[in-house]
Amino acid sequence: IEWNYSSSLEGTSHIQLQKKYDLFIGGKFVKPHSGKYFDTINPATGEVLAAIAQADETDVDKAVKAARKAYNEIWKNMSGKERGKYLFRIARLIQDRAREFAVIETLDAGKTIRESRDVDVPLVANHFFYYAGWADKLEYAFPNRKVESLGVAGQIIPWNFPLLMAAWKIAPALACGNTVVLKPAETTPLTALKLAELIRDAGLPDGVVNIVTGYGDTGEAIVRHEDVDKVAFTGSTPVGKRIHEIAMEMGKKCTLELGGKSANIILDDAPIDQAVEGIVNGIFFNQGHVCCAGSRLFVQENVADIVVRKLKDRMQSLIVGNPLDKNTDIGAINSEKQLKTIHQYIQLGVEEGAELYQPECRVPANGFYCRPTLFTNVAQSSRIAQEEIFGPVLTIQTFRTVDEVIQKANNSPYGLAAGVWSDKGSRLFNLTSKLNAGVVWGNTYNRFDPSSPFGGFKESGYGREGGLHGLSAYLK
Ligand code: NAD
Repeated sequence: IEWNYSSSLEGTSHIQLQKKYDLFIGGKFVKPHSGKYFDTINPATGEVLAAIAQADETDVDKAVKAARKAYNEIWKNMSGKERGKYLFRIARLIQDRAREFAVIETLDAGKTIRESRDVDVPLVANHFFYYAGWADKLEYAFPNRKVESLGVAGQIIPWNFPLLMAAWKIAPALACGNTVVLKPAETTPLTALKLAELIRDAGLPDGVVNIVTGYGDTGEAIVRHEDVDKVAFTGSTPVGKRIHEIAMEMGKKCTLELGGKSANIILDDAPIDQAVEGIVNGIFFNQGHVCCAGSRLFVQENVADIVVRKLKDRMQSLIVGNPLDKNTDIGAINSEKQLKTIHQYIQLGVEEGAELYQPECRVPANGFYCRPTLFTNVAQSSRIAQEEIFGPVLTIQTFRTVDEVIQKANNSPYGLAAGVWSDKGSRLFNLTSKLNAGVVWGNTYNRFDPSSPFGGFKESGYGREGGLHGLSAYLK
C-alpha cells in the first residue's frame, strides 16, 4: 500500500507499508503461534492499514525466553559504554528516518503530522540520546550505591503517543542493562514495529528488544510471566490497578503511569492571550488524548468573561480534519470506540446541566472526528469535571480566592499534572507547591524533556519516567 503525501510533506514521495506485520522476537520477525492477525485502522479514513500478528501466551513465552537469553549471555555483562553506543545509534537512526516515522505515526494514530513531525519523533530521538548518555555513568547517578540491572522488563503502552511511549520504556531499560518485551496498543502498533526494524538495523544483539503485538490478554500474559522481573505499564487506571494486583501477588517490581484530569489555573494577573494559547494547547493538543491534558480549566472570576470570550474566538479558528495536512490543528480521534466514549461524555455533560459550546466547523465525512468542545456552568461534582474523557473536551469552573482553587484543583482522584498562569513568580510558586500533581507547569503547558521526571500521584499511578528517576525504575 502506498500513500502519496507529497502535498503535505515536501521532500519524500511516498511511504510503503507491508500488508502484514509479524512479531519481533529474538531479532527476527516471526509468525504468531495461533496464526491469527488483526487489523490496524487509519482513524482519519476508517480504512485498514495492515494486518498485525496477534500474540498469545506461547509467543509471549518465546519472547521472554529470548529476552532472558540475551540478558544472561550478552546484555547484562556488556559495559555501559557499549550499551550506550547502541542507544546513540538508535537515536541517530530515528533522526535519519524521522519523516517515515512521523507519517506512519500519523496514519496509525490520527495525530496531526505537525505534531508527529515536530513533537513526537524529535522527543523520541532525544530520549534515546539522553539515556545513551547515562548508560556508562550509572555509578555517578547513584553515588555510593552498587547499581545492578533487574533482568527482563515487561512493558505495556497505550495508543496516544505510540512511538514516544515505546522510547520512554525502552531507552532507560536498556541503558540500565535490562532486556525488554514490549507490547504496543492494539490500535497503534505500526511505529513500534518500525522501531523493531530500526533496532535490528542498528545491530542490537538478538533478543535485547522484543515486540509482541496483541490485545489486553497479550499484555496480561507478559505481566503474569514468571520470568518477567519488572512490569512497566502506561495506560488507563482500571487496567493499571489490575496489573498492580498481579505484580504484587507475584512479587514483581512495577511502575504505573495512569490517567489524569489535570487542572489548568488562570490567575487574574495572567497574560491573557498567552494563557488562552496555553489552554488550547493544554486540551486540544493530540485531540486531547493526553494523560496530562489540561482538561479542567479554573479561571479567576474577575477575568472569566474575557478568557471565555477569547477562548471561544480561538476555538473557531482551529482546523479539524485530515491529520496529514500541515494546516490541521485537531486530527482524528484514535478509534471509533474512543469517539463513542467522547460523544457519550458530551451528551452526559448536557444532561448534567452544563452549557455546551462547539464552534461551527466542517469535519470529514469518513473517519473519526470530534469538534473542539467547551463546557461552562460546570458543577464541581459533575462527572464531566471528575472523570477522564481523553478527548478534546474542556470544562471551565471559576474561583474567587487562591485557597478556593487549591481546594477545587486537588479535589480529584487523579494527581498527574497541572498548569498555573500568573504574571508574578511569587503567586505562581506559592500555588504550584500546594497542588497535588506530579508535574506543574508555570506559564506554559505540555512541555516535555527527557531530563525531567514525569509521573503522578493518587490514581495517576506511581514511579517516574524521565531523568534520573527514570533510571532507578530499572535498577535493583
Ligand atoms: P488501556 O489501559 O486500555 O490500554 C493500555 C495498554 O494496556 C494497551 O496496550 C492494552 O492492550 C493493554 N492492556 C489492556 N488490558 C490489559 C490487561 N488486562 N493486562 C495487561 N495489559 C492490558 O489504556 P489506553 O486506552 O490504551 O490508553 C489511554 C489511557 O492511558 C488513559 O487513561 C491515559 O491517561 C493513560 N496514559 C497515561 C500516561 C501517563 O504517563 N500517565 C501516558 C499516556 C496515557
